[in-house]
Amino acid sequence: MRPATQLIRPKPSSDPAAPLTVPIYETTTFVFESAEQVRQYNEGKLQKFLYSRYENPTVAAVEERLAAIEGAEGAALFSSGMAATATALMALTKAGDEVVCSAAIYGGTLHLLNDLLSRFGVTTRFATLDDLQNRPAALLGDSTRVLWFESPINPTLRCVDVAAVAETCRARNVLSIIDNTFASPINQRPLSLGIDLVMHSATKYLNGHSDVTAGLIAGPAELVDRAGRARRLLGTVLDPHPASALGRGLKTLQVRVERHNVNALAVARWLERDARVTRVYYPGLESHPDHAIAARQMCGFGGMVTIDLAGSYERAARFYDRLKVIQRAASLGGVERLCSLPVLTSQWGHTDEQLSQAGVTRGMARLSIGLEDPDDLIEDLDQALS
Ligand code: PLP
Repeated sequence: MRPATQLIRPKPSSDPAAPLTVPIYETTTFVFESAEQVRQYNEGKLQKFLYSRYENPTVAAVEERLAAIEGAEGAALFSSGMAATATALMALTKAGDEVVCSAAIYGGTLHLLNDLLSRFGVTTRFATLDDLQNRPAALLGDSTRVLWFESPINPTLRCVDVAAVAETCRARNVLSIIDNTFASPINQRPLSLGIDLVMHSATKYLNGHSDVTAGLIAGPAELVDRAGRARRLLGTVLDPHPASALGRGLKTLQVRVERHNVNALAVARWLERDARVTRVYYPGLESHPDHAIAARQMCGFGGMVTIDLAGSYERAARFYDRLKVIQRAASLGGVERLCSLPVLTSQWGHTDEQLSQAGVTRGMARLSIGLEDPDDLIEDLDQALS
């Protein structure tokens, strides 16, 4: 698969001071000339801005760029990845609908479905990876409206055959939605594989500098518009200032992700040779159970590497505490190297059954490999493992 293009044809402009970069429209509201103009705006006959909770030119410019990167008709930005998830699910489901969700999913998504949306009559059935990979059709019932999944999955980096899931959902009139955060659109373009809607925590690779919290959905205009209307009501839109920072981060997305891919593969190969590490999870390794699927549907394998230290929390915690160069912090996808222990972060509070369904052990440590020289990271890993 070809990586995403980031080229957007510049629009011709007669403005003598046309800026190269998108200015930050730091305004809550926009001025109209007449009542007639407002009426035309309300009727959709005048392309204009009214109020920044609805739309804002800075946010819209970054959305246009993101739509191009994901190969989507439209894109909508939110104040966080969770805001994108919650708004999309509220816009696209109603009481009585069922969501089928991979059991191996970001913890926040799991709790949103289990603890919150359930109170509004939207039920969730959690699916094992085995079912998603081998029997997706059997998962869909008469009331299933949405199938929500990730690939690669946090933190095991297991992969699902995205095209197969998309095709199964389409045949049953179920919306397929993928959380594409871990792959980034440079490594995986799910819409071209038939997926209906893509969601991102833009906090991660899209921004890439660990200084913006944002979320994205991208897909057909009809679905994005529905989420956009819900966004107005829920007030989950992104502010223009972080949108501008995100737009800046996007300028280097391709080169950053290419370097993440190279670095993570080098680190994963080194870890795989080390007897102190029980198991290394990286989809670019031939030993990864889903390497063939990943190689088919991804153009790079990403910057995330997870290790298991004999399933032992004590060993994982000791390794974590000894790191000197790699920083102990949650999150991922930034230029800097980070380590987190899934049972203390994304899987915190999960029952043993939920952990086992997600394939997570207490001895796992998750590495977000940055843009540094991989030899420096390997030196740190070596001393932390000893
Ligand atoms: N999806 C994945 C895979 C994540 O890792 C995260 C956050 O860690 C989210 C969604 C939620 O995104 P945010 O923290 O931007 O709300």
